[in-house]
Amino acid sequence: MASDQQSRGASVRHILSFDVEEHFQVLAFWSDVRRQQWDRLESRVEQNTLRLGELLAYAETKATFFVLGWVAERHPGLVKALAKQGHEIASHGYGHELVANQTESEFRDDVRRSKCILEELTGKMVFGYRAPSFSITDRTPWALPILAEEGYLYDSSIYARFQPSEKVVTQRCVQEIVTTAGPIFEVALPTANLCGIQLPTPGGGYFRLLPYSASRMFLRQLEKAGTQFVMYLHPWEIDPDQPRMEGPVVSRLRHYLNLKRTEHRLQCLLRDFAFAPVVDAIQPIRDTVQARIQCGTAVCAVSR
Ligand SMILES: [Zn+2]
Repeated sequence: MASDQQSRGASVRHILSFDVEEHFQVLAFWSDVRRQQWDRLESRVEQNTLRLGELLAYAETKATFFVLGWVAERHPGLVKALAKQGHEIASHGYGHELVANQTESEFRDDVRRSKCILEELTGKMVFGYRAPSFSITDRTPWALPILAEEGYLYDSSIYARFQPSEKVVTQRCVQEIVTTAGPIFEVALPTANLCGIQLPTPGGGYFRLLPYSASRMFLRQLEKAGTQFVMYLHPWEIDPDQPRMEGPVVSRLRHYLNLKRTEHRLQCLLRDFAFAPVVDAIQPIRDTVQARIQCGTAVCAVSR
């Protein structure tokens, strides 16, 4: 692995992450009616995620998979396969509700439920959480303390674009935040400043929208500053044959844009840069995980 990364000229090991959810669970097509239909819609998540696993195996790269509890319940073999391949399994919550749309109690139940499901499937502790649509903001100050109380070591839900007050220093991808319930690491998505314009990180839809050369330039800029990039993508983004959903024109444009190109772009990214899961790529998190394992406190919620 190390020699492979050196061959890519890696001065920085970036973070590679996937939010594992169905193509019909995205915010762009959200409606309460459709929510009731989830179990009747065509499932594509397993085949798409297994394909991602193949691409990663070819590139000899591991990643963090933030898996939705709802998906894990219906595809337990997928979660076990990812864990067996050496990827980090983290939580994307259970029901894919925006954090601000939940009460504190509902949020606690959601993050606890998904953590338990994933830990039961893998037999390993889940350390990380990512909110649907990066929806931890200034409006939900209770979210990080709840995550710390529920045993999460890090969160990766804060995105500078949605944080006008910029409480989190986004030019550094990780920082420790001391909450009322104890410390938690925040793995924020960095932005880049190009000619005075603050650009969003080119993951997800931006990775599909921008030509690959723009994404590569963004990463090179971060590397020059010694900053790690947090790449995120969804399994449905490499699936050009997914069924088309009804919805607003803008949502349809955004969701179905360049699906045919994403897989090749991801292959280019894996060829040109070195990536690792959160628990390997970020030193303070890696050290804390190791310390917890050594002192026996890295215990699954289900076995407590
Ligand atoms: Zn999501």
